[in-house]
Amino acid sequence: MRTISSIHIIFVSILMFFTIMAQAQTNAYSVKTVVIDAGHGGKDPGACGKFSQEKNIALSVALKAGGLISMNCPDVKVIYTRKTDEFIELHKRAEIANKAKADLFISIHVNANTNPNSNGTETFTMGVAKNEANLRVAKAENDVISLESDASQYQGMSANDNEAIILHNLQQGAFCDNSLAFAGMIQNRYKEDVGRKDRSVQQAGFLVLWKTAMPSVLTEIGFITNEEEEKWLNNSDNQAELAYAIYRAFVDYKKYIEKRSNGEITHNPQTEQNVAPSPKPAPAPSPAKPTVNNNNKPAPKPTPAPASKTESYIYYSIQIGAGKDKIATTPENFNGLSNVFYIEEDGLFKYYCGKTSTYKEITLLLPEVKSKYPSAYVVARDNTNKKLQLTEARQKTK
Ligand SMILES: [Zn+2]
Repeated sequence: MRTISSIHIIFVSILMFFTIMAQAQTNAYSVKTVVIDAGHGGKDPGACGKFSQEKNIALSVALKAGGLISMNCPDVKVIYTRKTDEFIELHKRAEIANKAKADLFISIHVNANTNPNSNGTETFTMGVAKNEANLRVAKAENDVISLESDASQYQGMSANDNEAIILHNLQQGAFCDNSLAFAGMIQNRYKEDVGRKDRSVQQAGFLVLWKTAMPSVLTEIGFITNEEEEKWLNNSDNQAELAYAIYRAFVDYKKYIEKRSNGEITHNPQTEQNVAPSPKPAPAPSPAKPTVNNNNKPAPKPTPAPASKTESYIYYSIQIGAGKDKIATTPENFNGLSNVFYIEEDGLFKYYCGKTSTYKEITLLLPEVKSKYPSAYVVARDNTNKKLQLTEARQKTK
């Protein structure tokens, strides 16, 4: 009888241990869904420059940024409020994010100012505008509701309704801190990675952020009213650079949130300039030299989840090494690099970093990878992971 009850106690203890562990796992918070909102669209062109419209630039950068997140963060679901030139009401954009229970909302816009010399990037979170300039930005972005069918959706809320904004932020609690943290990360990436003028993190009362029930930002990627910047913003390579900065800020944020959720960090990085991880030196995956597959073996097993299982596409990646050993693709094993995956081919495990849909984007990642793996090089493959000649791939993806 005694033995049975001891066994019983041990059994219950083990069960309790696993229940607690399972609970701890579900409680660990991670960034699983992001909503990318391309500002304006359809009958609402947004701000206009000499030859282009905000809605088109915003959509292009939004699709590129979302594409980078989908390809490189297979555990993250990317939802777009629009993927084409269509009119979506502001409150519907928030609804899309709320319905998806998104963890982050990124609204992408292009700025305008009567001063033709204004330039640079700024990222807003919901808050009381501290100056006229910020208030003007919010008013201009909110203006679109004059084109909507039912403005009563916004219950009279306006960009200068400070009381309502303060109440909103009180209700949002921790989301505000996280919005500020992410806004700081985006601005940091624009400045450090793309070299854009930093107009820093700002606050104002934007209707599109009003109803979102998650950390949310509105990022202005440049001024369409500045002749030089308008030209720069319409160049697809530059759009790719901005998209890459948004993607990297997203990864910074995801790491920050997940580390904080695991109790590894307790501070808010908003006050810190750069939250880029400082990687611990770790051994290269294998001393074996990377080998290029030129024979006709059967198509290798697809490794990370591709963006789409049915569509055919070409992707670029950076091969960092190859060897006979399978190594866990964690940053610790790869000099701090995240987004590492492997493809099993010709009896070797080939390790790659990053996945992009354009050559330009992968070249942006190359310096960082080469600083850790000097012999790393760019490869192109198709959706079945078949290796392609770079020149052939670049002709098809340009
Ligand atoms: Zn806008």
